[in-house]
Amino acid sequence: MSTSSINGWCFIFSSSFVSRSGLRRPTLRPSIVASLNSSASPPSLIQDRPVFAAPIPLLTPRKDEGNKSYEEAVEALKKLLSGKGELKAEAAGKVDQITASLNSTLSADGIPNASVQRLKDGFIYFKKEKYDKNPALYAELAKGQSPKYMIVACSDSRVCPSHVLDIQPGEAFVVRNVANMVPPYDQTKYAGIGLAIEYAVLHLKVQEIVVIGHSACGGIKGLMSFPFDGTTSTDFIEDWVKIGIPAKTKVLAEHGSEPLGAQCVHCEKEAVNVSLGNLLSYPFVRDGLVKKTLAIKGGYYDFVNGTFELWSLEFQLSDPLSV
Ligand SMILES: [Zn+2]
Repeated sequence: MSTSSINGWCFIFSSSFVSRSGLRRPTLRPSIVASLNSSASPPSLIQDRPVFAAPIPLLTPRKDEGNKSYEEAVEALKKLLSGKGELKAEAAGKVDQITASLNSTLSADGIPNASVQRLKDGFIYFKKEKYDKNPALYAELAKGQSPKYMIVACSDSRVCPSHVLDIQPGEAFVVRNVANMVPPYDQTKYAGIGLAIEYAVLHLKVQEIVVIGHSACGGIKGLMSFPFDGTTSTDFIEDWVKIGIPAKTKVLAEHGSEPLGAQCVHCEKEAVNVSLGNLLSYPFVRDGLVKKTLAIKGGYYDFVNGTFELWSLEFQLSDPLSV
């Protein structure tokens, strides 16, 4: 249990440490009757043709371009190179570029490129191994959602909360952004996350909001590295991560002599606490805490060491003071 003060809010944190081996699975997962109803053929939703209509080209080819056949184009190139042998090396390089470009678009037999194929394979695996084997769960989810958690996590590709915490579909309403920040209540500047919190608390009636930080966070490294002296070098990043400046200030005051890497680790956790404090600026969050229909937790996933920490924010109102 520890006490901390950020932005004028006084927090009492009670922490628990869950090791890799001791991580407990959520208990709210619905019981599922597994039924094998899989098919070897790909689901019909996966199609090889584009999902969206092709946009109008921004550049319109000149009339004398693009009308040559492949054979004519090759002949023209041969004719050019027979007259100007010094261009052969440059031409070879350009042919390599064209070859690489064509390879990245279509393989020789016309199968979509590897990135599309990866998504196809991923969905086919999910459909066969998860969706078709859990008809009760997906039938229930078709009626609506009633998640217990709202999770705010980083956009970092290594920290997907559904993966790390074994969260099942329907269990968590998730918002992900750079450095897992919850900004202060601001209807104009931060409507994107504000509406998500409002929807989760007032309409989905989540019971817990969990803000999860993580190791080696690029957003937090940016927060610790940018000067914030009035100059900017990015369009969006500095303006976003500066939400965590109170955490940076605290880390520099308490760990100013430590190397940047160590400061970042401290800040990755302190920034979570700043977000917990900012959650209190949302009136519907405060109401939920006062009525005890809502709880707020901080988390930290260390993917270098394979550990997960969880701590809670205890919120209470004191009795009025009569003088
Ligand atoms: Zn991150």
